[in-house]
Amino acid sequence: MAQTQPIWIKDPLSILADGAERGVVVQDGKIVELVGRGREAATADIAVFDAGAHVVLPGLINTHHHFYQTLTRAVPAALDRELFPWLQALYPVWARLTPDALALGVTVAMSELLLSGCTTTTDHHYVFPAGLEHAIDIEVEVAGRLGLRVLLTRGSMNLSQRDGGLPPDSVVQDEDTILADSERVVARYHQRGADAMVQIALAPCSPFSVTTSLMRRTAELAGKLDVRLHTHLAETEDENRFCQETYRCRPLDYLEQCGWLNSRTWLAHGIHFDSEEMVRLGKAGMTVSHCACSNQVLASGCCPVCEMEEAGVGIGLGVDGSASNDESNLMQEVRAAFLVQRARYGVNRVSHIDALRWATKGSAACVGRPELGEIALGKAADLALFKLDELRFSGHGDPLAALVLCGAHRADRVMVGGCWTVIDGAIPGLDVADLMSRHSAAARAIQAG
Ligand SMILES: [Zn+2]
Repeated sequence: MAQTQPIWIKDPLSILADGAERGVVVQDGKIVELVGRGREAATADIAVFDAGAHVVLPGLINTHHHFYQTLTRAVPAALDRELFPWLQALYPVWARLTPDALALGVTVAMSELLLSGCTTTTDHHYVFPAGLEHAIDIEVEVAGRLGLRVLLTRGSMNLSQRDGGLPPDSVVQDEDTILADSERVVARYHQRGADAMVQIALAPCSPFSVTTSLMRRTAELAGKLDVRLHTHLAETEDENRFCQETYRCRPLDYLEQCGWLNSRTWLAHGIHFDSEEMVRLGKAGMTVSHCACSNQVLASGCCPVCEMEEAGVGIGLGVDGSASNDESNLMQEVRAAFLVQRARYGVNRVSHIDALRWATKGSAACVGRPELGEIALGKAADLALFKLDELRFSGHGDPLAALVLCGAHRADRVMVGGCWTVIDGAIPGLDVADLMSRHSAAARAIQAG
């Protein structure tokens, strides 16, 4: 799929890279040359893309999402609720998901992400009502069609209300079914190596929706298959209380007992860790997906990113599901993270460059892909190019700061593995009006019941 003729992304307005003032040369899916100030590209037989109107970023990486939730944005019954009652309002709606609706929900989420400058995304799909057993297969198919790089997690829930958990029986599966399907999707879809476009991770949903046995066996399976592990943790005080009452310990202690404290694991949220727990996370080489918008909507709290980074915990960004954000715009998430963390830590500890770093290099560590998230020699040719030609940017000074401070929300060009997936602010071949019409109809049907 990658081009063979090298392309010089030439003379960008600004670029988030060192020693590439005159741009980068990409070939066969990789960055093969950085062109510094006062130099010409040395690569022969080169095509030129004039980036004079563009700010060039490493492609943004989204480390937490639930694509299916695009079908349940701003649902009245779930408004103005914290996590547990919010989930309880939505589980019965999600139990009505169908394969066709999921395909539309995934297409909308991935399209939104691409158009916001995202080149790699994760998804955490954990609802498997009867008939939706092939949810991950559907996601793989859509990702291939849109050209987005993905780390899809085979999520799971097996602790229903009947057994003291939060979700109803209609959305959970049994442990053996979950583990067998986890093995199946890894064997079928997980690619290895720096060029991988599709990877699979394993992701039991949370302490309050999964049994201890499934947590343990999933960690063992991830080790055996050498894939990453993901779950929600330390999102709310309700979760703390649940763990204290059910397991007689805090969520991180529980995670450790289940065999999860290692560098294979990245966690969504990480809001309610104390300082001793952050040190343990850092020593274990774990990473955290900071979901600034979702945490604010559900009033869950604020991830202490500076203390985490000081303790050696890597920070990435995640838009989280579209029932708690409720958009899938990763560039807007950069701005949200910048704002909430700057308010917390002040002007000397959090800059727009920090927020961009979390969404790129930081997120690359969460997904275990050091070849992504950075414009440097030999890294993947995953790029997001923004124009500053909207009213909101008029009069700007520093172009990189303007992206974050003026609220950039739409990339003009996106490249994944050397291929253009967004051109002139649109996804080639995607009929957005038709997609919205069919997606809205599916959402109405699911919400109406
Ligand atoms: Zn989530």
